[in-house]
Amino acid sequence: MDLNITVLGSGSEGNATVVSLGNFGVLIDNGFSKKELLRRLSVSGISPDTIKALIITHEHSDHIKGARIIADALDIETFANTFTANEMRKVSCLGKKHKSFLTGSPFIIENFKITPFRISHDAIESVGFVFETKGIKIGYAMDVGTLDTLTKQRLKGCDVIMLESNHDKKMLMESTRPFYLKKRILSRTGHLDNTEAIGAFSELVTENTRKIMLGHISSDCNLHSIVEGMAVSKLRSMNRSDITVKLMKQHQPSVPVLIS
Ligand SMILES: [Zn+2]
Ligand SMILES: [Zn+2]
Repeated sequence: MDLNITVLGSGSEGNATVVSLGNFGVLIDNGFSKKELLRRLSVSGISPDTIKALIITHEHSDHIKGARIIADALDIETFANTFTANEMRKVSCLGKKHKSFLTGSPFIIENFKITPFRISHDAIESVGFVFETKGIKIGYAMDVGTLDTLTKQRLKGCDVIMLESNHDKKMLMESTRPFYLKKRILSRTGHLDNTEAIGAFSELVTENTRKIMLGHISSDCNLHSIVEGMAVSKLRSMNRSDITVKLMKQHQPSVPVLIS
């Protein structure tokens, strides 16, 4: 059975990622309308009936806007911690079938062991996930204010590291965004800049690491060419040019990444 990661969209305009093993897919977040999500699944060659569960990182609208609508349409369970589920319920984004997970405690969905871990971000109880299946580990951490010890521990040594590389600090400071927003993004509960994300490769990458996927890339305070250039040169300096770097896109799904 093939293990695939398909990023349907990543960024402040909407997030959704599918991790699938054979015909069993787990959707992480859905910040898109039902129509748009189905369109992106179709572009990626994923049949909607292979999506068997929805898991939620946090309640910001770019992650949950389409959560209820897609979970109910596909008749699947939504997994979220209790605090996040409550916030989702308040804005009518929680599907009919809901299961709570405890942040920090692994849970099982079919052949996946999924460990949610606390992330520093300005949501009620933001989490990242480590997926384990077939002896392979995928670490997922978007919307990360700062890489604290726990987040680094969880991502370290994963075969695939999926990490936010949100903004270029200089571009953010020079942007026309209001000061309060710049302050929020730069805070320990905001978003991760390129230097902190890519600088952390030294601590996160081990001999197990094969792929790094960088996402939630700002459309106006960052450039894909900057992120890619920094990531590639960092890996080169570590003598790890064997690691593939992929950038997640906002406006179109990325090509499915096969993990073998
Ligand atoms: Zn977000
Ligand atoms: Zn967020």
